[in-house]
Amino acid sequence: MPVRGDETVTARFVISLSRRDGNLPRRRPLVHEKGVVPVTKILAVAAPLLALAAGPAVRPSAPAAPSRPRLVVVVSIDGLSFARLESYRSWYTGGLKRLLEEGRVETACRYRHLNTETGPGHSSLSTGAPPRVNGIVANRWFQRLKDGSLRVINSVDQPAPEGVPGTPPMFYREVEKDDRLYVFALESELKRWQSSGEIGRGTTRPGYGPQDETVVFDSDDAITLYNFSHGRAKETFDQAQTIVGPGNLRVPTLGDLLADARPGSRVVSLSAKDRSALFLAGRNPQHAVFWFDQETGRFTTSAAYNPPAGARAVVNEWNRTSAGPLLPSRFGLAWKRMPVPDPQPSPTPVPAPLMTDFQIPSNGVGWDHTFTLHPRGYFTSLYYSPVVDDLVNELALAFVRDEAYALGRREQPDILALSYSSQDLVSHSYGPESEENLDVLRRLDLHLGRLLSALEASFPKGGVLLALSADHGMQTIPEAERSRNPAFKGGRLTNNLRALPSFDETLNRLVSEELCLPPDSKPIFGAEGWSLMYNRPALPLRTVAGPCGPADSLVTAETLDAVLPRLITHAFREEIAEVLPVSQRERWPHDDPAVEFSLNDFDPERSGDAFLIPQPNALMHFDPARGTHHGTHHEYDIHVPLIFWGGGVKAARIDASCTPYDLAPTLAAALGVTMPDAVGVNRLTR
Ligand SMILES: [Zn+2]
Repeated sequence: MPVRGDETVTARFVISLSRRDGNLPRRRPLVHEKGVVPVTKILAVAAPLLALAAGPAVRPSAPAAPSRPRLVVVVSIDGLSFARLESYRSWYTGGLKRLLEEGRVETACRYRHLNTETGPGHSSLSTGAPPRVNGIVANRWFQRLKDGSLRVINSVDQPAPEGVPGTPPMFYREVEKDDRLYVFALESELKRWQSSGEIGRGTTRPGYGPQDETVVFDSDDAITLYNFSHGRAKETFDQAQTIVGPGNLRVPTLGDLLADARPGSRVVSLSAKDRSALFLAGRNPQHAVFWFDQETGRFTTSAAYNPPAGARAVVNEWNRTSAGPLLPSRFGLAWKRMPVPDPQPSPTPVPAPLMTDFQIPSNGVGWDHTFTLHPRGYFTSLYYSPVVDDLVNELALAFVRDEAYALGRREQPDILALSYSSQDLVSHSYGPESEENLDVLRRLDLHLGRLLSALEASFPKGGVLLALSADHGMQTIPEAERSRNPAFKGGRLTNNLRALPSFDETLNRLVSEELCLPPDSKPIFGAEGWSLMYNRPALPLRTVAGPCGPADSLVTAETLDAVLPRLITHAFREEIAEVLPVSQRERWPHDDPAVEFSLNDFDPERSGDAFLIPQPNALMHFDPARGTHHGTHHEYDIHVPLIFWGGGVKAARIDASCTPYDLAPTLAAALGVTMPDAVGVNRLTR
């Protein structure tokens, strides 16, 4: 079911839509587009709007926080919808049980942006604002280079500083597969692609090969070597070398603002995933940001950060005594299901035999799962299992207990941000409705129980304020649903060069036929998430003589804007409900719920040429038949938990509508920090 936002929420987000678009000052005035609204009227009917406009820290009537927390803990559970958390309540005995019972549970907390992915979600949690403001519009997006060409970049790519050591050794390999040419300059990328079919930060160039085939490059080095070996002109690149970092964030995070406002405050951020750790933390290079390295089985950081020696010491010691080659002896070679209580709580997940046909066998299918199958090795097997949550939690406990680093025990308050990834990684392969998913959740319940106990043992009552949320939810596996319920509507578009025909290719063929272009034309560059990019370097294209008339009519971006909505919603009507060309955004109908979600994900440099609005239960996925995803504006992807615990917060269930953008402003208010770019509100004053 598509979610129709209540009027208040819709209004407050639409009012500030044009800010980024028009480079207007970000602080929003209390002026409606149609004129000044009397303040009394605002006070009477739009209290949430007033709070939004005033910002969380300067609201004059807000009751003072009881006492400032010494440590703020942010917990993000990657891919966990509120419905999933709540439905398994009777299974919990540990931290999830305590948080649901002792915390302030916001039951109606929904994202208001499209492309509900990990980068945008974590950036929204830390900045208190949607991608429209924070700039992280998807996990990957299209970048227009100075020469007009296009490429896909990862949200965590940023230019490398001068003189970064460790440039990988050069390597060269061309591989033909499925009528495409794959070009590698990194041996590790070749191995990764051979085992998983994924190319992490690749560039795809339609028609670039010797026989006009599509060429996929693993890196800019691959393009350079390919050009050299095929006698093509040398190219220069905007970002010759990139490192992983938070540089694409457009506004500061809570951690950045705390470090500015209270010098000496520290931010520690840990996750299995790089993007989760660094977007939760922010841009200050002093933040201690660490994630799990699948090559070494240890936690690592990048040249984007230079954390204090004390933080490095905690991680180094834990890596030395608990990680890397020690992991097989600690976690064994199998993921066994936790014993199921007798009697079994309800509800129960979909039994494994009904799921195995639809699961991606990251660690095999059926119990026990094995850590010996993944072609990229043992550490990657752990990454796609509940074990990475164990590792994040262990390192978090090491930080909480470390007397020398004294997190939260010094004069200024500190932030500990934790993103637990297993829920997402396991659900992608096995489905959120699976036994595997519940097993991850039960283990996480125990981890969080240990975390809460450690916090209580280390800090006086009220000294810790914890906020738990998620970066997005997750859809069930549509084919598995349909096997149990033939009336179920849903499906998938395959966006992967391995799987033929891919969405991009089918669309290019359809557009070429419709507009009488030569059959091998590539008017569409590609889709990332639910954003579509035209092949701008190739435009305008010229028609051939035929039903459209004589040859050599020009096909421009405007032509595509005009034809795509009808073409796509006919050809892909089961998966795509609507197409919103970006050039027409001033005319998008504001009573269309999808418009608000698209505008909140819109960034003029990063959003491409059109938003595709997914039908309910439609996936954009790399696998043609198995596994699942997230990214839509539908209930299962946007409705996530928001729980506040500790710091004097009383147990409550709050059913009023809210957004995850409220997390950072709420914590900011408790810390006495102002967040001028945030659109969320302080939940603890209402
Ligand atoms: Zn995620």
